[in-house]
Amino acid sequence: NEKIRRIDSATDKARAREKDSERLKVEENVFDVPTLKVLYTLSNKGIIKALGGSISTGKEANVFYAEGENRELAIKIYRMASSTFKAMDAYIMKDPRFTNIRNNRRDIIFAWTRKEFQNLTRAKSAGIRVPEPLVAEKNILIMEFMGEERVPYPLLKNTHLENEEAKLVYDKIVEYMHLLNKEANLVHADLSEYNILIDPADKTPVFIDMGQSVTLEHPNAREFLYRDVLNILRFFSRYGITDKPEDLLSKIQAE
Ligand code: ATP
Ligand code: MN
Repeated sequence: NEKIRRIDSATDKARAREKDSERLKVEENVFDVPTLKVLYTLSNKGIIKALGGSISTGKEANVFYAEGENRELAIKIYRMASSTFKAMDAYIMKDPRFTNIRNNRRDIIFAWTRKEFQNLTRAKSAGIRVPEPLVAEKNILIMEFMGEERVPYPLLKNTHLENEEAKLVYDKIVEYMHLLNKEANLVHADLSEYNILIDPADKTPVFIDMGQSVTLEHPNAREFLYRDVLNILRFFSRYGITDKPEDLLSKIQAE
């Protein structure tokens, strides 16, 4: 038994080391020289006062906390060495706003960053609560920090809700999906409990992560919307929401 315990603890340590070296590799990947240059310029301009800690390491991007002039910022940095950038093709090449992007990693990632900026701008103008986008420069997106005193709002996934509250959150999400569709002419295309934050003060949802969002003209827009609908219904079914996909779709597409 003692032996097994020792082996377990040794493998745990090895795993931790592995995780650590993974993390270092990722950080090395994100702060390449051109990216550092952009950050340096942004700090010379006074846009970034101090870069803080890492908030998240995702598949394509890292998000960092930063201090701006009199406000907290979130800085999303798309990794130029991102291995999944190929997946970006399907979302960007057929978007009428981005049809003349050259088919290379660099240009696709820069266009992707501008696309997320534009999508957030459109969503915000439509009345949806999203981080206000402030700067898009090369592979770096600077936006409003959604949180308080360095602590980001929790994901919907990690928020405890009573059934009553969940119903209100669901209704608000439906309203936002409707506005996104009808006012902003967009489909989020990766909407789920992982890309919605909850403001703990009033339990209002905040939509994030809109790099992959496409206009309704995109040939796969309907399919993406349907997937968003299924994700939201799957999550809220545990709170007794019984809408069928067709019910939610017609709420989203109502005039
Ligand atoms: P993933 O691959 O995990 O989906 P991502 O690279 O697509 O991540 P986002 O989903 O945009 O990136 O952000 C990752 C995480 O960073 C979010 O789950 C959220 O916790 C945090 N985050 C993103 N934007 C903000 C913001 N404006 N304010 C506070 N926290 C944020
Ligand atoms: Mn995400």
